Amino acid sequence: MLAALPLAEPDPLWALLRAFRTDGRTDKIDLVVGVYRDATGETPVMRAVQEAEVRLALAAASKSYRALSGNAAFNDGMAKLLLGENTMALERQCTIQTVGGTGALRLLADFIALASPHATVWSTNPGYVNHRPIMTAAGLAVRSFRWQENETGLDIGTAIADLQQARQGDIVLLHGCCHNPSGIDPSREQWRQLAELCGRRGLIPLIDMAYQGFGDGIEEDAFGLRHLVGELETVLVAASCSKNMGLYCERTGAAMVIAAEARPLANVRATLERLTRASYSMPPEHGAAIAADLFENSRTWLAELAACRKRVADTRRDLADALARCGAPEPLQALSRQKGMFSLLPLDQHQMNRLRQDFGVYGTASGRINIAGLLPHQIDRLADALVSVSELPPVKASA
Ligand code: PMP
Repeated sequence: MLAALPLAEPDPLWALLRAFRTDGRTDKIDLVVGVYRDATGETPVMRAVQEAEVRLALAAASKSYRALSGNAAFNDGMAKLLLGENTMALERQCTIQTVGGTGALRLLADFIALASPHATVWSTNPGYVNHRPIMTAAGLAVRSFRWQENETGLDIGTAIADLQQARQGDIVLLHGCCHNPSGIDPSREQWRQLAELCGRRGLIPLIDMAYQGFGDGIEEDAFGLRHLVGELETVLVAASCSKNMGLYCERTGAAMVIAAEARPLANVRATLERLTRASYSMPPEHGAAIAADLFENSRTWLAELAACRKRVADTRRDLADALARCGAPEPLQALSRQKGMFSLLPLDQHQMNRLRQDFGVYGTASGRINIAGLLPHQIDRLADALVSVSELPPVKASA
């Protein structure tokens, strides 16, 4: 059996991280991995999370098996976080706890494959590197639509033009906010256009909400999702608590299905539970119990999240200012208009290699940088490095 095992390429992201770790330069800059870092370069445990963990330890609840759909208070809190506290939409949703946002995406992919096996999933290009592997692992066909910028923001015209090829019942995989990797988010008007398109063409949105609270705020970042839910019968949501609660390794997330009415929800829940039962049975309790506590005692958490959001926005602004001071070309300065932890630099693989070799700056080969990984004293040096590599002549293919 093992002799026939196809060769699996190691994940290029981890290879880059290994290269960073073994790089001896003291002024190297890690903008590769998608985690929040504070101004000292740490990814701290939020104080609100620590307080919740103390309460949980003191309560010493049994570690006996839990429900297949996970922690009920967590599911309830996630539904309200995503849809809003006082909305009729809460009556027509089913939310179940998953193993991170990734687990939510995979569970929904399996759900789609069961309910609508011939649906194509339309994914943004550029897009999150793991979307296609997750969807294809569930046996779904994936196609892409352009997600690019013009002078004012998202070029919605090209996205909609590409989606004209989608058929009724196809899935449109959208990032709820803080698009990974581009940082390009739709305006409110553009969300309305996307909702109109989905309604008119019978397309079903799957919203990947991995950064709620990292853009403009918890409520503001949910605008697109809530608008779609208001306009459409069926919406799918994969949510992650990795970033906005800093629960990365606790693998905490939720899958939500919104239906036209409450009636089919019992079957939706039973189906989701059967799918998890055949995979990992039930999700781990600890992260969800912490999140449920944060929903109850939200003040400290929301203040800490606001501080993270501000640091990311300030870093982005300071980098944009530094680029402007260096006279950077306009495509580099576009990152000032983008949102969230990531931006995609207008640099090719060769330029990204030079950035790494000549300046010790590590981003992904595709040009993605994690703005939240940048420390205040590194900003000017990064701006200089970016301008230098952007001026390199194009590489000629060797004869
Ligand atoms: N979707 C997107 C767009 C992401 O960036 C990430 C995390 N990098 C995820 C989903 C998955 O998050 P989780 O850690 O909760 O699995």
